Amino acid sequence: MSEPTYKLSFYTIHTKLEDKKVMLVHGYTGAIDIASESLLSYLQSSKTLSSDEAPFSRETWDILVKRGYITQKSKEEEKQYIARMADALHRRNKLFNNFTIIPSYDCNFRCSYCIENIISEKGTGWSKKTFTKEMADKAFDAMTVINPHMEFKNKQILLYGGEPLLKENKEIVTYIVKKGYELGYKFKAITNGYEIEHFQDLLSSDMLYTLQITIDGNKFWHDQRRYHYSDGGTFDRIIKNVGIALEHGVGVGIRINTDKNNLESINELKQLFENLGYYNYKNLFSVHVGWLQDTEQESQKVDKNNNIQFFSFKELNIELKSRDIEVSDPSNNLFNNLYHAISRKTHITLNPTGCSAQSGAYVFGPEGYIYNCLEVVGRKEYILGDFSENHTINWDDENKNRWHSTHIATIPKCSNCKYALLCHGGCPLKTIENKINLTSCESFPILFNMAANKAYNSYLEEQANQKH
Ligand code: SF4
Ligand code: SF4
Repeated sequence: MSEPTYKLSFYTIHTKLEDKKVMLVHGYTGAIDIASESLLSYLQSSKTLSSDEAPFSRETWDILVKRGYITQKSKEEEKQYIARMADALHRRNKLFNNFTIIPSYDCNFRCSYCIENIISEKGTGWSKKTFTKEMADKAFDAMTVINPHMEFKNKQILLYGGEPLLKENKEIVTYIVKKGYELGYKFKAITNGYEIEHFQDLLSSDMLYTLQITIDGNKFWHDQRRYHYSDGGTFDRIIKNVGIALEHGVGVGIRINTDKNNLESINELKQLFENLGYYNYKNLFSVHVGWLQDTEQESQKVDKNNNIQFFSFKELNIELKSRDIEVSDPSNNLFNNLYHAISRKTHITLNPTGCSAQSGAYVFGPEGYIYNCLEVVGRKEYILGDFSENHTINWDDENKNRWHSTHIATIPKCSNCKYALLCHGGCPLKTIENKINLTSCESFPILFNMAANKAYNSYLEEQANQKH
């Protein structure tokens, strides 16, 4: 009896590593392996493959079959398989929810890269709307309507704005956090950090337990970019408030939006944190660099007076290599995924959606509307529902379905892409708005190669450390 015909799976991804090895990853089994270049050459050598002709053992052949790299399935059969898998994984994602509350759209800063500008431009009058206690009760009711099972909810609610921690909103923010705490939620906030000293009674490991604060370089650069509408420079006060938060046992993640102008000031800022003893709060304090991307969208957001000179992603990486500072870049998640899989000898995690906006993320605005993405709050065309009535939500089914019915197998270009369950199809908002998706398509193989090499090198380092 003749042996069934095998071929290289369409979903076998291979990338060259720096030491002449190759990393093999399979796009739907989630297998990850390090192999020799000669093994890869054989796999690519012919349209049909046979164990008799293979220049390696039968055992290796069986492993390659088991892990999906060589297959009897046609490309069409593999595509159908991945579509079924994407559907199932998407259904699983929809079981889980995470919630964001925007206490108000108002802000005491006048940074030009800010959603409040967009809302004000639209003349909606929403920028001055603030949550009331009644609306907060309705938002918590709506969370129960969306998902009555607490075990499937992310028990951390994000506070976002505008600026979520404004002194004048202290009463309503306190109400929201205390009520959420009684219901089993903890809170984190993306805040400018300017008035957090007024929220000290909420700052604790079981209430408002994590803050993300942006500091755009040293005092010189930060005060030019992130200024208070009446007080001007904000650097000194934010730096002091970071210390207050840490003293309360609250996690603080510092984000430095980085371009060519403020890059040099990162070391100075790090030295300041060192001098203030912030790095001693080992599990609480972290600093990462945010890559200011020169996309059409970012360019629209950036005021010419900000004097921003964008880095390409490659340039930024080269500059930061020697600076011992974590870069929050698009390859980070992929790196973590690959590294954990190699290091723990397990499979990579596969996901059919670019973000939770396609499954279970809900953002509650003070005007009574629900959105699913922080980038679209205040934009009427993206409202998913209205929670302003008691114990019910009036959904805009068309808008909701537009987001919740898409995953990699429903987007034509992604349904034909071997990277689909690793790339996740990129940001769905950019797909909807036909904007450049920097983390996708042309750049994804480059990102993949970077992440794979980083993961492999970290793995080798880990192995070497274990031997010593
Ligand atoms: S901007 Fe894109 S990736 Fe981010 S939450 Fe919105 S849809 Fe998702
Ligand atoms: S966005 Fe591009 S790279 Fe990502 S899965 Fe879709 S086709 Fe592939």
